Amino acid sequence: DHTAPKPTSTDVQGDDQGWHGVWVIIEVNRGVVAPVSWELLGEGRKLADTIGCELCGVIIGFEIEDVVPQAFAYGAEKVYLVDHPVLKDYRTEPYTAAMADIANQYRPEIILMGATSMGRDVFPAVATKLQTGLTADCTVLGIDSETKNLQQTRPAFGGNIMATILCRTSRPQMATVRPRVMEMPPKVEGRTGEIIIAPFNHGEDDFRTKVIEFIPAVAGNAFLDKAEIIVSVGLGLGAKRHLAMAQELADVLGATLAGSRGAVEAGWLTHDQQVGQSGVTVRPKVYIAIGISGAIQHLAGMATSDFIIAINNDPEAPIFSVANFGISGDLFQIVPALTEEFKKR
Ligand code: FAD
Repeated sequence: DHTAPKPTSTDVQGDDQGWHGVWVIIEVNRGVVAPVSWELLGEGRKLADTIGCELCGVIIGFEIEDVVPQAFAYGAEKVYLVDHPVLKDYRTEPYTAAMADIANQYRPEIILMGATSMGRDVFPAVATKLQTGLTADCTVLGIDSETKNLQQTRPAFGGNIMATILCRTSRPQMATVRPRVMEMPPKVEGRTGEIIIAPFNHGEDDFRTKVIEFIPAVAGNAFLDKAEIIVSVGLGLGAKRHLAMAQELADVLGATLAGSRGAVEAGWLTHDQQVGQSGVTVRPKVYIAIGISGAIQHLAGMATSDFIIAINNDPEAPIFSVANFGISGDLFQIVPALTEEFKKR
């Protein structure tokens, strides 16, 4: 329960009755919308319907009007648009100011954002400015039937328990949500709604950080969030040289190679290939776990995959508890046999 002290300044504070609506921050980075924003509009719709309030999208950036129809298509009834040259590239300070200003002015009950790099960076700063609490990295959201407070559930104590956190008095209630844990809502083209152009009363000189040059990150080979089939390896593989065997299976299936934290810490894979609580959450059509025990922190990142195939020589391995199809045996026999069989098809 995070009950931050109540704000006292008149621009922040009002009685609790004055906070309305569920807001979703639509994350736009160089024109590209983070898909978790749409997942959150889907989840926000359920919350707004339960509370009986409106669902709003918040779009912050520069020359980002073309994102507005998409926000309506994914279910927002109203869009707050903060469009300003200073907001062209993401920086913590200007984005914090933009979000805090409109929250102070329009007073949402709930604000959600993806637990992306941007969400993890900006939301704590916004919560501090608004003098409210924040639950980071939620995997389940709900509404308490009695109080109508937001129930924010997230893994705690290294993923060993799920903690449900209620923000009893401070407002707005803020949460970041991990990408790909919520369902993508249907997109209904042509849906429209109200657009509120919100001002941004700051200039470049108000902020200490400057963008001098933009150098795009060299994309890793993972792209796990978009992969339809994932071949994932764990310490059961024994040595890095055996990766070639898993890669061959992945190539035959057109799959992306990933792994457990064990495999990453062993130096066989890079961190962007790690599936799990401290890695990427994935939801492919098929997830093939090879020599992965299925620790709770690993399951947290892949248990919602459509179809899970597990290969492990320990019939008691926890990975089998989430597998749709389990093969108990030696991976060094099973993986090459599968590759040969798939090659024929
Ligand atoms: P192991 O647990 O060692 O499992 C290897 C498996 O291979 C065993 O089940 C074994 O039976 C099987 N095996 C061995 N030889 C063969 C063979 N010849 N044929 C078939 N099977 C074989 N882990 C993650 O994966 N992702 C995370 O994001 C993550 N985050 C974490 C965050 C925290 C805070 C903590 C505390 C831990 C986290 N972990 C994470 C670590 C996690 O607890 C496990 O330690 C890790 O997942 C184990 O990796 P593994 O399954 O590859 O290795």
